[in-house]
Amino acid sequence: MRDLHCAHARFVWNLAVEQQSWWRPGRGSAPGNAERMRQLAEARGAEPWLHAGSSSVQQQALRDFDQAMAAFFDPENPARHSKFRSKRGPQAFVIRDTKVRRISRKWGEVFVPKCGWVRFRWTRPVPAKPGMARVTLDRAGWWHVSFPAPQPAVERESSGTAIGIDRGVRTALVTSDGEHYRVPRISDRDAARYLGLQRRMSRQQKGSRRREKTRLAMAKITARVTGQRRDWAEKISTRLVRGHDLIVLERLNIPGMVRRPAPKPDPERAGTFLPNRARAKAGLNQGILASCWGVLSRCLEQKAAASGVTVISVNPRFTSQQCRACGHIAAGNRESQAVFRCQQCGHEDHADANAARNILARGLSLANDGPVSAHARGPAGVRPHRTGKPAAGTTRSAA
Ligand SMILES: [Zn+2]
Repeated sequence: MRDLHCAHARFVWNLAVEQQSWWRPGRGSAPGNAERMRQLAEARGAEPWLHAGSSSVQQQALRDFDQAMAAFFDPENPARHSKFRSKRGPQAFVIRDTKVRRISRKWGEVFVPKCGWVRFRWTRPVPAKPGMARVTLDRAGWWHVSFPAPQPAVERESSGTAIGIDRGVRTALVTSDGEHYRVPRISDRDAARYLGLQRRMSRQQKGSRRREKTRLAMAKITARVTGQRRDWAEKISTRLVRGHDLIVLERLNIPGMVRRPAPKPDPERAGTFLPNRARAKAGLNQGILASCWGVLSRCLEQKAAASGVTVISVNPRFTSQQCRACGHIAAGNRESQAVFRCQQCGHEDHADANAARNILARGLSLANDGPVSAHARGPAGVRPHRTGKPAAGTTRSAA
């Protein structure tokens, strides 16, 4: 029945997307939520397959769609267009007026319409009156139930301190206090297995059972890595929010962050390439590193907002080439991956820590205008110039 709920929710959602896609400017208004609800009732009358399902699950799919449309038309922060939901992606449905009961320390039960009580592992505190619950089937084949709850505030005392964070190219995250944090990486064993599965899948026939089995095995590895990444982001964000009143990050540019490893040409035979395992693994890790940043910044922003901490994102342009002491910007300032040495004043520092201090300085110069999201569109942060006066936020030390 849970599978069917997902199928119904997907079907209803996709119908709404299709209906919307037929709408063109000048054609009058597209049907609103009330009209769609009426059409759903009609469709349930005509289709025994839909009628057998839960009307509350199907109506909720339409409400979801209505919210997605509202987000799309939000002039302040427009969302992306609603897309069709595939049978192959993660599956979900929403239940309303959720009933939950606890049966032991580890287990609880949630009432799913037309299924009855369904057991779940109780991993997090559940709000006293959950209201809605979202039931999802992830790509690894695991079911989850989640309850919307406000982000709890982190217990903290105002320290009056600010911190800048640089996204290290390789290691992880370096703060303006000079601390380094490593990002969880995929283990050698998992990487080898994942790449092996990937190769196997490329030889398997599309839509075959064997291919589905391979996909599932890959999804299980991905799920494990995703779990580690989430734990990491939770831990680091709590620590940062607890210790600081202002946190400055660089603005994200995720598509630009994941680079594919370049293929190596085979010297023996022109036009062919050598197998590229080490590089393929490096590619996997780069992807993880990049997504760690997205997860962390979102986590930080939510926690900070709930705990009275300000998060600001600044333009990271030239932060790694700019001298913190005198403001001089040159590619040659960065002597190596790790060493920064200013060609003008001779200032020396760890390269990523120098960058983190630049980020902090830019954030401080913006701090009076309130938080700036790392995911915000449009110009955010400062845009330093290569020549002329030093960038905003740079303090010229008395030379
Ligand atoms: Zn300098």
